[in-house]
Amino acid sequence: MPTYGPPAPAPWPAPPQPYPGCVRCGELDARRGIARDTCDRSLETDCNVLLRRHLREAHS
Ligand SMILES: [Zn+2]
Repeated sequence: MPTYGPPAPAPWPAPPQPYPGCVRCGELDARRGIARDTCDRSLETDCNVLLRRHLREAHS
């Protein structure tokens, strides 16, 4: 009888979403898009960290 373990955890937390109408969020989201397009995972992660921090400080 097969055993079913817990579902595999997501390899990465959900990326933060930019706040509508915020210039800073737009900048970070655009930079993250460029990082994705160029497969620059470290820059993409940096942008996620910066965006998450900015969301917490400016929009929470
Ligand atoms: Zn913002």
